[in-house]
Amino acid sequence: MHKRALVVGLGIAGMSAALGLRQAGWTPVIVERAPQRRTGGYFVGLMTEGRRAARDLGIAGHLHTRNPPDGGKVWSLTRRGDREPGLGFLHQPGDPAAVVRGDIEAALWRSISGEATGEPVEVRFATAPVEIEDTGGGVRVLLEDGGTGTRYGEDFDLVVGADGLRSRVRRMAFGPHENYMRDWDAMICAFELQEQMPSFAAADSLISAQAGRAVWVFGFADRPPTVLLTYRTGDTRGQFAGSAVQRLRAVFSGMEDPVVRHALAALEQAPEFVFDSVHQVRMPRWSEGRVLLSGDAAWCPNLYSGMGATAALCGGAELGRALRESADDLDAALEAWESRLRPFITKHQRLARLKQQMFVPSSRPVEALRSVVLRVACTVRERRLAKQARAGIPA
Ligand SMILES: Cc1cc2nc3c(=O)[nH]c(=O)nc-3n(C[C@H](O)[C@H](O)[C@H](O)COP(=O)(O)OP(=O)(O)OC[C@H]3O[C@@H](n4cnc5c(N)ncnc54)[C@H](O)[C@@H]3O)c2cc1C
Repeated sequence: MHKRALVVGLGIAGMSAALGLRQAGWTPVIVERAPQRRTGGYFVGLMTEGRRAARDLGIAGHLHTRNPPDGGKVWSLTRRGDREPGLGFLHQPGDPAAVVRGDIEAALWRSISGEATGEPVEVRFATAPVEIEDTGGGVRVLLEDGGTGTRYGEDFDLVVGADGLRSRVRRMAFGPHENYMRDWDAMICAFELQEQMPSFAAADSLISAQAGRAVWVFGFADRPPTVLLTYRTGDTRGQFAGSAVQRLRAVFSGMEDPVVRHALAALEQAPEFVFDSVHQVRMPRWSEGRVLLSGDAAWCPNLYSGMGATAALCGGAELGRALRESADDLDAALEAWESRLRPFITKHQRLARLKQQMFVPSSRPVEALRSVVLRVACTVRERRLAKQARAGIPA
């Protein structure tokens, strides 16, 4: 008989884990707290490792990417109000694929729903676990149907908590959030624009990064941009008091560039937006008996790392591989899974601090240094492209 796994969360980590489990011959069941699947989302740059994991999970062919040619034109907005050619997220080494979060989830969903494979994974919406008991030989889970309030018990061979940064599975099986969530004293707000900012080409990206606060507009080849507002704060909890829009207006007042003003006006019209504090999740172990965490629940590297979606895909692909290789020994499989992933995750959790300075510099001197570094890198890149063009080599 197939072993059954409960996967909690229908995000990138949950769907990837379910596909990995299925590749290893398991029967996954996904529960999702929300009443339906979400779509859309914010800009995500998918790195080489994430694209490889997407291939391993069999979804790469369904992944719609939106890179503007050659990474697109990026404009850096200076304090003087000038617009200088700049470098953006897509100019990093490894040629990130430009997508919105919903593009990755849509590609995964084609396999989960059976549309691509003819083998659907069971998904229960409006359902969440309320108790998890590892009985040694299995896991007994009490599930609650959020629509009717009905509770029922069910037995599984494994539980995968892929329920995001504030994971309930983590809290139930590993302990309180404070033990694992590190506060980064920073906030983000992300939303989709209905159309490009006035006076810029459709696929342009724009960056205004000053000490303590920054606005990023991510351009795509075939859809309107998404916006990221991010700022540093000494009082994370206080940021949630009152209206998020009023808070952002206050924080970004004084950044006089028309792009910033337009972004704040667009935020007020946005049908939905994410407003949240920035954290990193650090855990000494990602599994305990028959309960395992994956994605942001286990290791959230945070948005500054630019690796959360990539790592969530890798978590699922590697889980499938480890379970295939140690089909009769779950402990050995989970051990191998963690030891393969941990160096990669640790590296990117550390790098995130440096990358945060590129997203939102911590002080005026860092802001100035950041500008110099980017100007030099931009000049080097332009010279290289010009040389390639003279030699007839495509960019
Ligand atoms: C603004 C922004 C920009 C980003 N940019 C990048 C980038 O460029 N590159 C990159 O790689 N990553 C990026 N990331 C990070 C990336 O989006 C996340 O790391 C990734 O989507 C996490 O996926 P996840 O499945 O672990 O968690 P989530 O996306 O949080 O999914 C968790 C799911 O679990 C469900 N759930 C929660 N609680 C329960 C419960 N109790 N029971 C049942 N279901 C539950 C939720 O409804 C949700 O569907 C960015 C993140 C943000 C916010």
